[in-house]
Amino acid sequence: MTGFHVINHPLVSTKMAMLRSVTTNTKEFRELCGEIASLLCYEATKDFPTVEVEVETPLCKTTCQTLAKKIAFVPILRAGIGMVDGLQRLIPNAKVGHIGLYREPDTLQPVEYFCKLPPDICEREVLLLDPMLATGGTASMAIDALKTRGVKNIRLLVLVSCPPGVAKIQKDHPDVGIYTACNDPELNDHGYIVPGLGDAGDRIFGTK
Ligand code: URA
Repeated sequence: MTGFHVINHPLVSTKMAMLRSVTTNTKEFRELCGEIASLLCYEATKDFPTVEVEVETPLCKTTCQTLAKKIAFVPILRAGIGMVDGLQRLIPNAKVGHIGLYREPDTLQPVEYFCKLPPDICEREVLLLDPMLATGGTASMAIDALKTRGVKNIRLLVLVSCPPGVAKIQKDHPDVGIYTACNDPELNDHGYIVPGLGDAGDRIFGTK
Protein backbone atom coordinates (compact mmCIF):
# COMPACT_ATOMS: atom_id res chain seq x y z
CA MET A 1 0.00 0.00 0.00
CA THR A 2 1.29 3.48 -0.81
CA GLY A 3 0.86 6.47 1.52
CA PHE A 4 1.99 7.31 5.02
CA HIS A 5 0.82 5.10 7.89
CA VAL A 6 1.35 5.92 11.58
CA ILE A 7 0.59 2.80 13.63
CA ASN A 8 -1.62 4.02 16.45
CA HIS A 9 -1.85 1.15 18.90
CA PRO A 10 -1.47 1.04 22.71
CA LEU A 11 1.16 -1.73 22.50
CA VAL A 12 3.22 0.33 20.05
CA SER A 13 2.97 3.55 22.08
CA THR A 14 3.87 1.74 25.32
CA LYS A 15 6.94 0.14 23.77
CA MET A 16 7.92 3.42 22.08
CA ALA A 17 7.82 5.19 25.47
CA MET A 18 10.27 2.61 26.83
CA LEU A 19 12.45 2.77 23.71
CA ARG A 20 12.78 6.55 23.90
CA SER A 21 13.80 6.63 27.56
CA VAL A 22 17.45 7.49 28.19
CA THR A 23 17.45 4.91 31.02
CA THR A 24 16.70 1.99 28.66
CA ASN A 25 19.82 -0.16 28.37
CA THR A 26 21.25 -1.79 25.24
CA LYS A 27 19.64 -5.20 25.80
CA GLU A 28 16.22 -3.70 26.47
CA PHE A 29 16.60 -1.30 23.54
CA ARG A 30 17.43 -4.11 21.11
CA GLU A 31 14.50 -6.22 22.32
CA LEU A 32 12.08 -3.29 22.04
CA CYS A 33 13.30 -2.51 18.49
CA GLY A 34 12.52 -6.07 17.49
CA GLU A 35 9.10 -6.07 19.15
CA ILE A 36 8.03 -2.74 17.61
CA ALA A 37 9.37 -3.88 14.22
CA SER A 38 7.15 -6.99 14.50
CA LEU A 39 4.10 -4.85 15.16
CA LEU A 40 4.96 -2.59 12.20
CA CYS A 41 5.43 -5.65 9.99
CA TYR A 42 2.01 -6.96 11.04
CA GLU A 43 0.42 -3.71 9.84
CA ALA A 44 2.56 -3.26 6.74
CA THR A 45 1.70 -6.71 5.39
CA LYS A 46 -2.03 -6.71 6.09
CA ASP A 47 -3.01 -6.22 2.43
CA PHE A 48 -0.47 -8.70 1.01
CA PRO A 49 -2.14 -11.15 -1.37
CA THR A 50 -2.81 -14.72 -0.25
CA VAL A 51 -3.42 -18.00 -2.09
CA GLU A 52 -5.60 -20.94 -1.16
CA VAL A 53 -3.90 -24.08 0.12
CA GLU A 54 -5.48 -27.33 1.15
CA VAL A 55 -4.63 -28.48 4.68
CA GLU A 56 -5.62 -31.66 6.45
CA THR A 57 -6.46 -31.07 10.09
CA PRO A 58 -6.79 -34.02 12.50
CA LEU A 59 -10.52 -33.96 11.59
CA CYS A 60 -10.84 -33.24 7.88
CA LYS A 61 -9.46 -31.44 4.84
CA THR A 62 -9.95 -27.66 4.71
CA THR A 63 -8.94 -24.69 2.64
CA CYS A 64 -6.59 -22.10 4.19
CA GLN A 65 -4.90 -18.90 2.97
CA THR A 66 -1.14 -18.34 2.91
CA LEU A 67 1.07 -15.51 1.66
CA ALA A 68 1.13 -15.53 -2.16
CA LYS A 69 4.37 -13.65 -2.77
CA LYS A 70 7.91 -14.08 -1.60
CA ILE A 71 9.22 -11.41 0.77
CA ALA A 72 12.63 -9.86 1.40
CA PHE A 73 13.79 -7.67 4.26
CA VAL A 74 16.46 -5.10 3.43
CA PRO A 75 17.96 -3.34 6.46
CA ILE A 76 19.94 -0.18 5.79
CA LEU A 77 23.29 -0.61 7.58
CA ARG A 78 23.81 -0.45 10.34
CA ALA A 79 20.80 0.48 12.49
CA GLY A 80 18.30 -1.34 10.24
CA ILE A 81 19.80 -4.63 11.42
CA GLY A 82 18.14 -3.98 14.79
CA MET A 83 14.72 -4.53 13.18
CA VAL A 84 15.46 -7.78 11.30
CA ASP A 85 15.05 -10.20 14.19
CA GLY A 86 11.51 -8.98 14.94
CA LEU A 87 10.43 -9.41 11.34
CA GLN A 88 12.01 -12.85 11.02
CA ARG A 89 9.88 -14.04 13.93
CA LEU A 90 6.78 -13.34 11.83
CA ILE A 91 8.10 -14.31 8.37
CA PRO A 92 10.95 -16.78 8.93
CA ASN A 93 11.23 -17.71 5.23
CA ALA A 94 11.94 -14.16 4.07
CA LYS A 95 15.37 -13.56 2.56
CA VAL A 96 17.52 -10.72 3.89
CA GLY A 97 19.50 -8.27 1.74
CA HIS A 98 21.69 -5.44 3.01
CA ILE A 99 22.39 -1.91 1.79
CA GLY A 100 25.18 0.26 3.20
CA LEU A 101 25.38 3.99 2.64
CA TYR A 102 27.67 6.62 4.12
CA ARG A 103 27.43 10.38 4.07
CA GLU A 104 30.12 12.07 1.94
CA PRO A 105 31.75 14.56 4.39
CA ASP A 106 32.00 17.48 1.92
CA THR A 107 28.61 17.27 0.22
CA LEU A 108 26.74 15.37 3.00
CA GLN A 109 25.23 13.31 0.16
CA PRO A 110 24.71 9.57 0.86
CA VAL A 111 27.01 7.26 -1.15
CA GLU A 112 26.39 3.52 -1.59
CA TYR A 113 29.28 1.34 -0.33
CA PHE A 114 27.58 -2.07 -0.02
CA CYS A 115 24.62 -3.79 -1.63
CA LYS A 116 24.00 -7.54 -1.40
CA LEU A 117 20.50 -8.69 -2.30
CA PRO A 118 18.83 -12.06 -2.89
CA PRO A 119 19.17 -13.00 -6.60
CA ASP A 120 15.37 -13.11 -7.10
CA ILE A 121 14.81 -9.74 -5.34
CA CYS A 122 12.72 -8.43 -8.30
CA GLU A 123 10.05 -11.07 -7.64
CA ARG A 124 9.80 -10.23 -3.93
CA GLU A 125 7.82 -7.77 -1.86
CA VAL A 126 10.57 -5.74 -0.19
CA LEU A 127 10.36 -4.32 3.33
CA LEU A 128 13.13 -1.71 3.64
CA LEU A 129 14.19 -1.17 7.26
CA ASP A 130 15.70 1.83 9.02
CA PRO A 131 14.73 2.88 12.56
CA MET A 132 14.98 6.62 11.90
CA LEU A 133 13.55 8.54 8.92
CA ALA A 134 15.27 11.90 9.52
CA THR A 135 16.07 13.95 6.37
CA GLY A 136 15.06 11.02 4.17
CA GLY A 137 18.24 11.29 2.06
CA THR A 138 19.57 7.85 2.99
CA ALA A 139 16.24 6.04 2.66
CA SER A 140 15.56 7.72 -0.69
CA MET A 141 18.94 6.61 -2.01
CA ALA A 142 18.41 3.08 -0.69
CA ILE A 143 15.09 2.97 -2.59
CA ASP A 144 16.93 4.20 -5.72
CA ALA A 145 19.43 1.35 -5.24
CA LEU A 146 16.60 -1.21 -5.05
CA LYS A 147 14.74 0.22 -8.05
CA THR A 148 17.95 0.25 -10.13
CA ARG A 149 18.13 -3.51 -9.51
CA GLY A 150 14.56 -4.00 -10.72
CA VAL A 151 12.63 -4.05 -7.43
CA LYS A 152 9.03 -2.91 -7.95
CA ASN A 153 7.22 -3.33 -4.63
CA ILE A 154 8.85 -1.53 -1.71
CA ARG A 155 7.52 -0.56 1.71
CA LEU A 156 9.64 1.46 4.15
CA LEU A 157 9.34 0.53 7.85
CA VAL A 158 10.74 2.98 10.42
CA LEU A 159 10.36 3.34 14.17
CA VAL A 160 10.44 7.15 14.22
CA SER A 161 9.84 9.52 11.31
CA CYS A 162 9.60 13.30 11.05
CA PRO A 163 7.89 15.55 8.50
CA PRO A 164 10.95 16.45 6.35
CA GLY A 165 11.87 12.78 5.88
CA VAL A 166 8.32 11.77 5.05
CA ALA A 167 8.03 14.64 2.54
CA LYS A 168 11.32 13.64 0.87
CA ILE A 169 10.24 10.02 0.35
CA GLN A 170 6.77 11.02 -0.81
CA LYS A 171 8.31 13.44 -3.34
CA ASP A 172 11.07 11.11 -4.62
CA HIS A 173 9.16 7.81 -4.38
CA PRO A 174 5.37 8.27 -4.22
CA ASP A 175 4.92 4.55 -4.95
CA VAL A 176 6.63 3.54 -1.67
CA GLY A 177 4.41 3.15 1.40
CA ILE A 178 5.87 4.42 4.70
CA TYR A 179 4.99 2.71 8.00
CA THR A 180 6.08 4.37 11.24
CA ALA A 181 5.47 3.83 14.94
CA CYS A 182 5.68 7.58 15.62
CA ASN A 183 5.93 10.80 13.59
CA ASP A 184 7.91 13.31 15.68
CA PRO A 185 7.63 17.07 15.11
CA GLU A 186 11.12 18.13 14.04
CA LEU A 187 14.81 17.71 13.25
CA ASN A 188 17.47 19.60 15.20
CA ASP A 189 20.54 21.31 13.67
CA HIS A 190 22.56 18.08 13.96
CA GLY A 191 20.01 16.07 11.99
CA TYR A 192 18.56 14.30 15.05
CA ILE A 193 14.84 13.75 15.34
CA VAL A 194 13.33 15.57 18.34
CA PRO A 195 12.19 14.23 20.79
CA GLY A 196 13.38 11.06 19.03
CA LEU A 197 15.49 8.46 20.83
CA GLY A 198 19.05 9.55 20.10
CA ASP A 199 21.39 7.63 17.80
CA ALA A 200 19.55 4.40 17.04
CA GLY A 201 22.68 2.53 15.85
CA ASP A 202 24.66 3.41 18.97
CA ARG A 203 21.78 2.41 21.23
CA ILE A 204 21.21 -0.92 19.41
CA PHE A 205 24.87 -1.91 19.39
CA GLY A 206 26.02 -0.19 22.59
CA THR A 207 28.69 1.82 20.82
CA LYS A 208 28.31 4.96 22.90
N1 URA B 1 19.60 8.80 13.02
C1 URA B 1 19.47 8.46 14.33
O1 URA B 1 19.99 7.44 14.76
N2 URA B 1 18.78 9.28 15.14
C2 URA B 1 18.19 10.41 14.70
O2 URA B 1 17.55 11.08 15.48
C3 URA B 1 18.32 10.73 13.33
C4 URA B 1 19.02 9.92 12.52
